[in-house]
Amino acid sequence: MDMPRHWRLNEQRYNLVGTECPACGAKLFPPRPICPDCNCKEVQPFRFSGQGEVYSYSTVFQAPSGYEEFVPYTVALVRLKEGPLVTAQLTDMDNDEARVGMKVEMVTRKLREYGEDGVIVYGYKFRKPVADYLETEVD
Ligand SMILES: [Zn+2]
Repeated sequence: MDMPRHWRLNEQRYNLVGTECPACGAKLFPPRPICPDCNCKEVQPFRFSGQGEVYSYSTVFQAPSGYEEFVPYTVALVRLKEGPLVTAQLTDMDNDEARVGMKVEMVTRKLREYGEDGVIVYGYKFRKPVADYLETEVD
């Protein structure tokens, strides 16, 4: 992947920006230029809250090139509060902590490192919400 493409993808990676259709209200991630539900071409950028819950997950033991340092890691399909499903790595938890239906929130983390030029790519991952830790500790 070349550098200009990195820059273009940055907003999507950091902010979980998708699109919202003004005609039918569909919220989409990744962003689409045309609403697939009603073919409206006036879609607007929409910033997702980053709140969601785990829809399904699996633990990866054989990583693709560039992800070796994270093995084993858990990749989840997260159902965002606003509806869309997003695939992302879970972070800040043990692999056996993942549960279907578990509440998660988006955080920005190092995604991968490229060998030769040492470019580090940051992006979103999901973790257990910090508020849940506090509630657990009080109880
Ligand atoms: Zn629409």
